Amino acid sequence: MKAWEKNIRRVVPYTPGEQPKEKNIIKLNTNENPYPPSPKVLAAKTELEQLRLYPDPAASDLVKEIAGYHNLNDNQVFVGVGSDDVLAMSFLTFFNSEKPIYFPDITYSFYDVWADLFKIPYETKALDDDFKLVAEDYYEENGGVIFPNPNAPTGLVVDIDFICDILEHNQDVVVIVDEAYIDFGGQSALSLIDRYENLLVVRTFSKSRSMAGIRIGYAMGNPALIKALNDVKYSYNSYTMNYPSIVLGVESIKDDIYFKETVAKVVATREWFEKELTRLGFTCLPSASNFVFASHGSVPAKVIFEQAKEAGIFVRYFDKPRINNFLRISIGTDEEMKQFVCFLEQLLNK
Ligand code: PMP
Repeated sequence: MKAWEKNIRRVVPYTPGEQPKEKNIIKLNTNENPYPPSPKVLAAKTELEQLRLYPDPAASDLVKEIAGYHNLNDNQVFVGVGSDDVLAMSFLTFFNSEKPIYFPDITYSFYDVWADLFKIPYETKALDDDFKLVAEDYYEENGGVIFPNPNAPTGLVVDIDFICDILEHNQDVVVIVDEAYIDFGGQSALSLIDRYENLLVVRTFSKSRSMAGIRIGYAMGNPALIKALNDVKYSYNSYTMNYPSIVLGVESIKDDIYFKETVAKVVATREWFEKELTRLGFTCLPSASNFVFASHGSVPAKVIFEQAKEAGIFVRYFDKPRINNFLRISIGTDEEMKQFVCFLEQLLNK
């Protein structure tokens, strides 16, 4: 090793799902929305000559629109470049203790990557045999708590009482609820932010708003939390939100009818698809998200994953203990899901 190499920060990066280049594939591997963004977003006028200027560092128009939508004040909202950016900033800002932060052992696989990157000590807490979070595991003194609700990749939700229980037992640290998928099912923790000043709720435009490509995420919480996030952001990169994101994000929020219709379509397809999977011999965890986590009674998940890929259908497979016989299948259009069911029928000779 060369002397200069010794000082390099070594990290094992997060591996995102594949973004294949081929046309005509059915892409059910990264929980994108199969429907386009709102027509208001598609028709929005961005004055691209504006790119000459730096964008508004506070992204005030977008913050205002999001705050208004959720009946909050502007100082209760922080925006970032996808919820990955918001979550990374939150780890950097709030998880600054010598005590370990806690999160589930089976969860969004970016959490341990950020913890390693920022040298934050952490302990994972095992989900129970039904893949549920166990509240008592989070009672001990810690440096902070984070979990997604619904959890990923299981798709399972916890209820508000569970979240209150966690908050009651963790009043001295920041508790982050990552609600990337909450629009597809389950009850949001947002109603609790006035009661618990240490609660941060994080959302994204990537799933329910069909805007993964623009990269918008946001956090909601007590003004003191939001100020702390902004202070860290302005110490790192003031201009995270580019001008088109701000304009197009605002348009998306304005079109609530389209948003609700799209979410309802995905949920209806999910319900149909879960029944089909069950008919074909799969066990599905009850999903409250835009994906289904399922395991077949006799054919290994890895085999189905590989064969599906051969057939041009991409789903997600995690070669990890306890979940290595499951597939995470994003909900596509009805047509895409019918084609996937057809493929499964052939594979399973049904
Ligand atoms: N949280 C969870 C639980 C996720 O699954 C994802 C998607 N990979 C994200 C956050 C990040 O999504 P984005 O950065 O697109 O907002």
